[in-house]
Amino acid sequence: MTFHSMWAELLPVGRSSASGGYRRFAWTGADADCRDWFRAQAEARGLTYEVDRNGNQWAWLGDPAEGDAVVTGSHLDSVPDGGAFDGPLGVVSSFAALDELRARHVKFTRPVAIVNFGDEEGARFGLACVGSRLAAGQLTVEQAHRLTDADGITLPQAMERAGYDPDTIGPDPERLSRIGAFVELHVEQGRALDLSGDRVGIASAIWPHGRWRFDFRGEANHAGTTRLVDRRDPMLSYAETVLAARREAQLAGAVATFGKISVEPNGVNAIPSLVRGWLDSRAADQATLDTVVTGVEKAAREYAEAHGVELDVVRESFTPVVEFEHALRDELARILGRDKHAGLTVPVLGTGAGHDAGILSGTVPTAMLFVRNPTGVSHSPAEYAAEDDCVAGVTALADVLEGLACR
Ligand SMILES: [Zn+2]
Repeated sequence: MTFHSMWAELLPVGRSSASGGYRRFAWTGADADCRDWFRAQAEARGLTYEVDRNGNQWAWLGDPAEGDAVVTGSHLDSVPDGGAFDGPLGVVSSFAALDELRARHVKFTRPVAIVNFGDEEGARFGLACVGSRLAAGQLTVEQAHRLTDADGITLPQAMERAGYDPDTIGPDPERLSRIGAFVELHVEQGRALDLSGDRVGIASAIWPHGRWRFDFRGEANHAGTTRLVDRRDPMLSYAETVLAARREAQLAGAVATFGKISVEPNGVNAIPSLVRGWLDSRAADQATLDTVVTGVEKAAREYAEAHGVELDVVRESFTPVVEFEHALRDELARILGRDKHAGLTVPVLGTGAGHDAGILSGTVPTAMLFVRNPTGVSHSPAEYAAEDDCVAGVTALADVLEGLACR
């Protein structure tokens, strides 16, 4: 099967006719259809198919027990109304790259595997990269058992309903120890490649990022009868803080977003008593991120004081910078640098998005390839990569796999 035909086959799976976006949530029917597709691709190529204890799918060429395997792949699930490329591009490209290597009649000296990590987006249970986190021991079994979807169904229940045994979930060091290198190809979630005019790039690092909850507490009162000077309105200090976040991020070359808010009492004719806003901020390095968040918090305290409002700031989550292994990254640059295909140059770029590759990087040597996304839009039906660029990505991935697994 060509890249084109595989892509066309997967394209309708889990797509909403209303939004045009994808709803491939973990352990749902759409997810099962994606998994069936993966299994069929593995079997059609005579690869050894297996599902690990955490529900991740593997397709092996060669003996896994040999160790030092070169693994590629990504995920097939989506965010709510996500695009077609985030995840599936990596999986489809992996099969296409393997086909290309077979057509080149290369001789494999290391086992090779393609993986589909389960529940990467966390759309259903609210935590990203559950499949890889469990395998890497970065999510405990107890924590996984507490994950619950919007309908009150727990992760183990959802797995069981999908026909998987939830009793086996947990760390899988033995399986990860078979991996000598993991390379994930992914659509770029930004415009760096578009701006540099390159089809394919290599990841340098995943930016550190975190979420902070800002609670602004004032005094609820009547919107019609309370004089402006008598108000303690937390919405005002919140609104000013949103602008401060934008300003601080812009100054630092970082990103900062208030994308979620809850208001009490949430009445049209009531001055709020509480405005709770969540800040998501990411930057290329820790010091820059600290500067942004400290700046936003300082500004928020000043605004709160000016309006007679109390402020609490709580850090709810934090993920430190992920530096992909330099030796493997340099190896990719070396392999692709000598590439003659379409004058490919290979810029090295950072990203503000999380990935399974980032989770695995704590355990195994890991690298990422990005494919150009001309709009930079991701997690939306507008996410896009031109087929020419996708095919350049397949060639680059095939070259990388050849360079690593066919020495
Ligand atoms: Zn992804």
